[in-house]
Amino acid sequence: MFVLFGVKTVFNTLSVRPGNCRYCHQHAEQRLQERASRFTLFFVPLFTFRRQYQVSCSNCGGSTEISRQQKESLV
Ligand SMILES: [Zn+2]
Repeated sequence: MFVLFGVKTVFNTLSVRPGNCRYCHQHAEQRLQERASRFTLFFVPLFTFRRQYQVSCSNCGGSTEISRQQKESLV
């Protein structure tokens, strides 16, 4: 029997707002993103087993991982 499974990572932008970047110290758009890891079977996503959140700068690309509680306060 042949079974093909894997993991797919998907980025979703939840919100975009202006703010000061901690890396480049410029006032630029800061994107709140969700990174979801999904289990796939025969290339079909079945379920999400991990969600991580990050804020990334549109000017320099620097990103910071944040917790779910921090994400709830930003949305
Ligand atoms: Zn920056």
